[in-house]
Amino acid sequence: METILSINNISKRYGKIQAVSDLSLEVKKGQVFGILGPNGSGKTTTLSVILELIKANKGSFQWFGLPPGKESRKRIGSVIESPNFFPYLSPVVNLKIVADIKDLGYDDIDRVLNLTGLYERRNTKFKTFSFGMKQRLAVASALLGNPDVLILDEPTNGLDPQGIAHIRELILLIASQGTTIIMASHLLDEVQKICSHVAVLSKGKNLFDGKVSEVLAISDSFELSAVNIDLLTKAVAAHPVFQSLISKDEIIQVYFKETVNPEELNRFFFSQGITLTHLTERKRSLEQHFLELLDNNK
Ligand code: ATP
Repeated sequence: METILSINNISKRYGKIQAVSDLSLEVKKGQVFGILGPNGSGKTTTLSVILELIKANKGSFQWFGLPPGKESRKRIGSVIESPNFFPYLSPVVNLKIVADIKDLGYDDIDRVLNLTGLYERRNTKFKTFSFGMKQRLAVASALLGNPDVLILDEPTNGLDPQGIAHIRELILLIASQGTTIIMASHLLDEVQKICSHVAVLSKGKNLFDGKVSEVLAISDSFELSAVNIDLLTKAVAAHPVFQSLISKDEIIQVYFKETVNPEELNRFFFSQGITLTHLTERKRSLEQHFLELLDNNK
């Protein structure tokens, strides 16, 4: 599959603050790629570097297999800041101004207004728009010229639930038309609902990346105990979908790569001559899971 963006060992420092640290990742054509991390984890800095708004101290990146430049810039649309247009002008006139700046014709304006659901309001003054509509106009403006990639920074920030739903649907619609999407978000739930792939950032580092279904898969954990805890520890490590364990006094907490049925687990140990004295299933929320991912990788 065609590589759209490759980032190689990028670091960016602001004075004493290391905002991005040795970050590498790859985005392929057609992916909806989420950059997920808490506030201050370096998401906006990363997007600013790849959009050439700021320079990295170290590392390199390529767009479409080529060093960044004028040609690649034409193929990228982005919404990085809050939507900013002339308040007393209509969306059509505002988009004409953007088209002039981008050196494009006006023939794409109706398409992007239709796509973002703003066509009916095309002649209303921008200042009368709701925040959600303003955000959609920013997306429309980024889509002028039909870029291969759309970059969004926290696309649902500040929106009400209806506005959030509109933007999510819009992103999925744009992606379904073949545009690759790269979006930063601090919301696990949002990335799960929209993205196909994700890189989890913490303190400017890429903790892990891959398919959302794999990286953010929630495997529940079990607390287990037996008379012979060493034997139990050895046996659990040999379980076909074992992932990791934490020992706590006489109990071990075990994580599996896939969902495991408690009854099957009990039978598994019994078949190895181990009688469990304790078995408790621990269900985790998405948020707990995300925090654990970050915690375990400090
Ligand atoms: P948020 O979601 O809060 O915007 P983020 O993940 O996008 O966070 P960045 O905005 O990239 O993170 O910030 C990463 C770190 O760099 C933070 O500690 C931030 O305070 C710092 N930082 C960002 N921009 C600047 C700047 N222009 N000058 C100094 N420090 C900065």
